[in-house]
Amino acid sequence: MTGSSPKKRVPARAKHASSGASAPGERKARGSKSAPSVMKRLQSPGSQHRFSMQMREQGRKIGFVPTMGALHAGHLALVRKARSQNGVVVVSIFVNPLQFGPGEDYGRYPRDLARDMDRAREAGVDAVFVPEVADLYPEGFTTRVGVGPMAERLCGAERPGHFDGVCTVVLKLLGIVQPHRLYLGQKDAQQLIILERMLADLNVGVKVVGCPTVREKDGLALSSRNRYLTEQERREAPRLYETLRMAQREILLGNERDPNRLRARMHDAIIRDTGFEIEYIALVDPESLEERRVLEGRTLIAIAARLGVGRLIDNILINVPGGRMAEGIRLPRGKA
Ligand code: AMP
Repeated sequence: MTGSSPKKRVPARAKHASSGASAPGERKARGSKSAPSVMKRLQSPGSQHRFSMQMREQGRKIGFVPTMGALHAGHLALVRKARSQNGVVVVSIFVNPLQFGPGEDYGRYPRDLARDMDRAREAGVDAVFVPEVADLYPEGFTTRVGVGPMAERLCGAERPGHFDGVCTVVLKLLGIVQPHRLYLGQKDAQQLIILERMLADLNVGVKVVGCPTVREKDGLALSSRNRYLTEQERREAPRLYETLRMAQREILLGNERDPNRLRARMHDAIIRDTGFEIEYIALVDPESLEERRVLEGRTLIAIAARLGVGRLIDNILINVPGGRMAEGIRLPRGKA
């Protein structure tokens, strides 16, 4: 943001630091030390770890938002949430080669660090961790997290190894950043669910905060990959969310309880007069990601589809009326 408006916006972090107040849920810092007033850019795992340990020694809670950059309003909503709950906010920007398969868009994934740094600064981020590939995967690196069957469902069927790569990098980032809370978007629901599972399975004491999907006015979920869409494809892209809403309506009104028939209707609605090629339409238990044979309880409806060179995903979480309540999962309750 430029300073053209008469009232220059004070970044949340600066406001927070200058007031000397502690964020809700956070102890006031001991002594005279306050949160850093200038946003730090840290590249080495060692420097990020030292920064985090310093903040922890001051009694500050650290909120962490891992990203692959090309920051948009969806990322910034996670930062705002982290800002509201912690004394220190760390964002990482790292396009993780481990989670891209051969022929995927690793090489052309949008990278614009200067703009990302500006956006992070405006949003009140305290530190941006920007490692190079060799910082996280030096010579001799060999260990991988193995997620198991949940990583083979939905997106994992088309992207083998993807979630093992995501879990490996997030576990490494958590070790480096040492946050109290981890902020993840419901836009990538399978990722959120698998990461929660990993943290529970491996006894990693970090709380996951799931944040609702931020959308364009026409319903398209914001994504760094939306920039791959041509004008025509961009006009067609909101069809995914429209179809999710149609499915939600049909279930909530009690018009449809057969998952196979609903899936077929959704398929037809998405491809009608569009260039979409559907990868999957899934109606699953949001804890195990297993397909629901009967629509009941909390149900994640998720879609992945190709449009031109792009691949779009979207989902909605519903509670099927009259059904048994599923328990455990902490996705935000689907208002969307
Ligand atoms: P990415 O940079 O795409 O890896 O995303 C980083 C984090 O931002 C992940 O937790 C995503 O789920 C989240 N995110 C991406 N897009 C959105 C969105 N439209 N709304 C909310 N969160 C999002």
